[in-house]
Amino acid sequence: MNVHEYQGKQVLKQYGVTVPNGHVAFTVDEAVEAAKKLGGDLWVVKAQIHAGGRGKAGGVKLARSLDEVRQYASELLGKILVTHQTGPEGKEVKRLLIEEGCPIEKEYYIGVVIDRSTGRVVMMGSEEGGMEIEEVAAKSPEKIFKEYIDPAVGMMPFQARRLAYNINIPKDKVNQAAKFMLGLYNAFVDKDCSLAEINPLVTTKDGRVMALDAKLNFDSNALFRQKDIVELRDLDEEDPKEVEASKYDLSYIALDGNIGCMVNGAGLAMATMDIIKHYNGEPANFLDVGGGATEDKVREAFKIILSDKNVKGIFVNIFGGIMKCDVIASGVVAAAKQIGLDRPLVVRLEGTNVELGKKILNESGLDIVAADSMADGAQKIVELVKNA
Ligand code: ADP
Ligand code: MG
Repeated sequence: MNVHEYQGKQVLKQYGVTVPNGHVAFTVDEAVEAAKKLGGDLWVVKAQIHAGGRGKAGGVKLARSLDEVRQYASELLGKILVTHQTGPEGKEVKRLLIEEGCPIEKEYYIGVVIDRSTGRVVMMGSEEGGMEIEEVAAKSPEKIFKEYIDPAVGMMPFQARRLAYNINIPKDKVNQAAKFMLGLYNAFVDKDCSLAEINPLVTTKDGRVMALDAKLNFDSNALFRQKDIVELRDLDEEDPKEVEASKYDLSYIALDGNIGCMVNGAGLAMATMDIIKHYNGEPANFLDVGGGATEDKVREAFKIILSDKNVKGIFVNIFGGIMKCDVIASGVVAAAKQIGLDRPLVVRLEGTNVELGKKILNESGLDIVAADSMADGAQKIVELVKNA
């Protein structure tokens, strides 16, 4: 789960990580009010969307007067911001962060992720702040430093200081930077983050070390014990189909293709996507209805697929184990009857209660193409979609 920059900064602040003073604003008036409350004579008006690259795309504006705050706020609110992370369709700006403008001395990069090969949290740092870390990794990998953290003892102060020295934080600010890193690590572990990226971390001309940007991702499997984080969820930023799917506890991810897939089991779902690709088709989604899905759940899953305008055909690929084929068949028929089936549908059923499942489909009067195997089904749906 992702949150906005201003929310991420609020979380970090609880752990002693220094962030600029700022307030969220939903309207132009609120933006001006926020700037007045902050005082000073330099403000930053920042578009809040769940994507980075805002600076380059014109989503971060430096304002030198309250009039400029008003002007930038009205320009940004309601605007569709296209950054290299939003995709070409962009994202509508509905919230702004109004922040004190900071006298930046130098920008650095700090990222915290879980390293799968060592099974440890790793903190990465670089003096090439403000740039994409992928770019730094490609051009000058020697400028990225890493500290692997032993989970038994947590991040040690010497590790934080070493990282600060390695990325050339000025000596008089190393202690501040180390405190920052330890706070960031504690937030990461305590809040079950899967990613925490501070780009840039800055030193300022008035002697501070702070996070000018904050990107936090949270492990969705841990949200049950992170109630305050769940409250930060912004459904406007998520794919409506994925939001709907999460209500029914379905594992669903929207993709760019045009073949809707309904599958049980994550492994089979991956294999189904692979085989569609193998026959030169493009899956429109990943969908695992799970092992113990009810007819209701299957019906809702099928409706979500049908609601996707990009879907030109559907492939139902079920291996009934715990999941019974007749339950799938009943769910598909119920959804198709409720909203109409206007696109080709290929079904491959195998396993528990397969005969009953096939009978339900045959007697439904729906126009269904039966497939004998996974490969057969994939080929058939790719063919049907091509000719649609
Ligand atoms: P993004 O990563 O989406 O482009 P950032 O929050 O990193 O957005 O902002 C982009 C750049 O804008 C930063 O690298 C920094 O130079 C500048 N910036 C952001 N916030 C402030 C601030 N409060 N004061 C001064 N400059 C800022
Ligand atoms: Mg940034």
